Amino acid sequence: MRENQKSVQAFKEAVDLLPGGVNSPVRAFKSVQMDPIFMEKGKGSKIYDIDGNEYIDYVLSWGPLILGHAHEKVVNSLQRVLQGGTSFGTPTEIENELAKLIIDRVPSIEMVRMVNSGTEATMSALRLARGYTGRDKILKFEGNYHGHGDSLLIKAGSGVATLGLPDSPGVPESIAQNTITVPYNDVESVKYAFEQFGNDIAAVIVEPVSGNMGVVPPRNNLLQKLREITEQNGSLLIFDEVMTGFRVGYHSAQGHFDVTPDLTCLGKVIGGGLPVGAYGGKREIMEKIAPAGSIYQAGTLSGNPLAMTAGYETLTAMTKEAYEGLSQKVDRLVEGFSQAATEFEIPHTINRAGSMVGIFFTNKDVINFETAKSADLELFASYYRSMAEEGVFLPPSQFEGIFLSTAHSDEDIEKTIEAARNTFRKIKES
Ligand code: PMP
Repeated sequence: MRENQKSVQAFKEAVDLLPGGVNSPVRAFKSVQMDPIFMEKGKGSKIYDIDGNEYIDYVLSWGPLILGHAHEKVVNSLQRVLQGGTSFGTPTEIENELAKLIIDRVPSIEMVRMVNSGTEATMSALRLARGYTGRDKILKFEGNYHGHGDSLLIKAGSGVATLGLPDSPGVPESIAQNTITVPYNDVESVKYAFEQFGNDIAAVIVEPVSGNMGVVPPRNNLLQKLREITEQNGSLLIFDEVMTGFRVGYHSAQGHFDVTPDLTCLGKVIGGGLPVGAYGGKREIMEKIAPAGSIYQAGTLSGNPLAMTAGYETLTAMTKEAYEGLSQKVDRLVEGFSQAATEFEIPHTINRAGSMVGIFFTNKDVINFETAKSADLELFASYYRSMAEEGVFLPPSQFEGIFLSTAHSDEDIEKTIEAARNTFRKIKES
């Protein structure tokens, strides 16, 4: 067993200080039935916990660190900027530089507004869609996560296209009533919802590749069909690319699938590990935001120079060739993993989009939340704990994808496949 005394001790202290001992729920490692591992530092593809254990990291701070930890270019630029002060509350040139990169690469974005998190990006995009269309309802997909804003923390009842029920106490039913939820990859339900509520729907918001129920790519031209339906009904189409943006590819998911939404939400990679979100889209819509227009949204630290710098350095390092190299590493990991699982007769389905990979312990095709839930969660928990013992750090939930970075070496990938083989062998023998 790996040494974990310091993590155990730190968590004991934390539960007295922070609700559940953490500042974001998934960090409590509940679904894998173990105490959280407290991390101390990271370099490249590796992270190190406070007990001194090394891991190959496939969490990458839940996606942002596409260059790996403490990338030299990012760190050097941050150090330079830091010397000149951390925040001014005035415009700075680096905000223009990051905006130009985003506008250049994301097809739908003609103008962009920086915020501080993915949650802020989606909340603000919804306000803009509602203000722009003069409509109140929105449509989202079951199992898609868009941050913790009231309108989006909603799941469907058991029926199709039902009005939402709050997912959390504290979300007023009057707000939930304005959120319609349908199963992912189910265009017929979207059509039905539009027949019922079409004239009231301000926007459809979707993760173009779903990354919050494991990884579930769109099927049967889902995104093209959403584009058509929203256009026919005068609703806006919002792609929540907080996870997929600059992760699925150089032009994000919308470039990959060749569908252009009206608005796009970004986060994670565009902040290179610092707190950043953004939303952008057509000029005509974006100019409705204050102070150009009357729809209000603001932020004391929005466009913060350190955060903009980390994002700028990350995106400039992510050339088309860098995405190509990353993709080849993912190919090898998926292939090796699948062979190992097959050899030890472990039921599995692997979904993948760019460098996002979802490994489900089920033989079913995983196309939506229902099928994702067919995965064997007990098996996942044993697998998770064994992989951690083997020195591989994975997201502690079956319903999260794994991420790779340009810092992952071929050796890292081979070691990970070996760790999976050892894990599956142990599971079969137990
Ligand atoms: N949208 C998506 C698709 C996400 O994956 C997340 C976070 N995982 C969010 C929004 C919320 O972002 P944040 O945690 O930065 O508020």
